[in-house]
Amino acid sequence: MLGKLTTYLRMCGYDAAYGLDRGIEDDDAVLALARRERRTLVTRDRELADRTDDGLLIESRDVPDQLRELRAAGVDLTLDEPQRCSTCNRRLSQLPAGATTPNHVPDAADGVWQCVGCEQHFWRGSHWEDVADTLSSL
Ligand SMILES: [Zn+2]
Repeated sequence: MLGKLTTYLRMCGYDAAYGLDRGIEDDDAVLALARRERRTLVTRDRELADRTDDGLLIESRDVPDQLRELRAAGVDLTLDEPQRCSTCNRRLSQLPAGATTPNHVPDAADGVWQCVGCEQHFWRGSHWEDVADTLSSL
């Protein structure tokens, strides 16, 4: 339910697991995963949030409002440099300045990161700017 919020959290450097990425949808399985991996459960499901000690209930449907709720709950939403893959949540590693990059990716010297898992490339492009604008407008 909170896939976009997951992307924002990862871009802000959080290790944010997403149930559906793991093939998990069932409440009990989500709860078990959160406990096993000592994660804070973020959910729009009040019943599920009530089953946790420190779960965060998100009530808004609108992403900026959801981000405001997270911030109000004490979650620091700051973009620093790319740290987590927004697709698979693995760590990113910055390419050395001389590294070769695919055609659709900027020069490594301009700041390019690559996911250690899925190998996707990241840089501070227009999507990064959009996210920065959204966060600064909250
Ligand atoms: Zn990845």
